[in-house]
Amino acid sequence: MSRFLSEKFADLEPYTPGEQPREGRYIKLNTNENPFPPHPSVTEAAEAESRKLQLYSDPECKALRAALAAETGLREEELMMTNGSDEALYFAFLAFCDRHTPAIFADVTYGFYPVYARITGTPYREIPLGEDFRLEPKDYYQAAATIFIANPNAPTGLALRPEEIAGILEQNPYTVAVIDEAYVDFGAESCLELIREYDNLLVVQTFSKSRSLAGGRLGFAAGNEELIRDLNAIRYSVNPYNVNRMTSAAGIACLKQEEYTRKNCRIIQENRAWTAARLKELGFEMTESRTNFLFARHPAVSGETLYKELKKRKILIRHLSGKRIADYNRITIGTREEMEKLIQTLEKIPGIG
Ligand SMILES: *Cc1c(COP(=O)(O)O)cnc(C)c1O
Repeated sequence: MSRFLSEKFADLEPYTPGEQPREGRYIKLNTNENPFPPHPSVTEAAEAESRKLQLYSDPECKALRAALAAETGLREEELMMTNGSDEALYFAFLAFCDRHTPAIFADVTYGFYPVYARITGTPYREIPLGEDFRLEPKDYYQAAATIFIANPNAPTGLALRPEEIAGILEQNPYTVAVIDEAYVDFGAESCLELIREYDNLLVVQTFSKSRSLAGGRLGFAAGNEELIRDLNAIRYSVNPYNVNRMTSAAGIACLKQEEYTRKNCRIIQENRAWTAARLKELGFEMTESRTNFLFARHPAVSGETLYKELKKRKILIRHLSGKRIADYNRITIGTREEMEKLIQTLEKIPGIG
């Protein structure tokens, strides 16, 4: 830390992104990326748009929001595009939390929530998940706080049903609940339809996972028009050109390829079922994942050892810190070939095979 850093950031603990190796041929099962590239028409659209890079992007993302409105059945005024959904989450902390309205979220959830709470000066409470990592909706009733729920949750992979979210919304009429649906396309039910019923619901989604655009950085917030107006006030105070031209063009092209997206999600779900069955045969225990990853532990090998043994053998998985989950690893679902290689490699690790 330089002697110039503002004292308000003296004990900032930044988020730790998963490793992105530059050399060496790793099978990357550590950052929940999609193993399939974007549809060729998406790459072409981004390339064509790159010829206009001397011009600012559209701060309203008009064409992209129109396409997304058609896809989701929402109105354009109910949508705001962001630079990855992380930015939407950050703006939600800025807009809907303060000294009097703390944030609450689970003790085992997306690592960015506490980071955003701290950088925005938001007090927060962590609500312990149940023994089996289940989230008890009643724990969020009358929260008197802005609620952040990843649904499905990461890294546990478990999902609540929209009725359960509706119960939470009903019991918190004076505060906002932010439902982070980064993984919803891999087998959970979205809450987008509840937006018309609840003016305190903000749904956040990303193009990073199911739509193969992690490197493009595209996400969105969906909610009641007034919530979206608040978020836009924040966005126009930070960076109105938050979505660049190429990403915006890629997003529009991507929304024309819903069949491609659905097919890839289906393959990933099949690979997940296959991998889960093989891991069980090897003695692993895991949660019922509705995402593109498995959250697994082995009774005979510690989480950290497993991570290191796989890394030595050129497979990266994610070992997360936190004492409740130290035994576990988060394993992204890749192609069938990648998952076969994972299983073959695991079979050779002492204590497992
Ligand atoms: C991946 C992820 C995000 C956001 O990723 P972006 O790439 O910023 O869109 C948000 N929430 C959870 C729970 C995630 O796993």
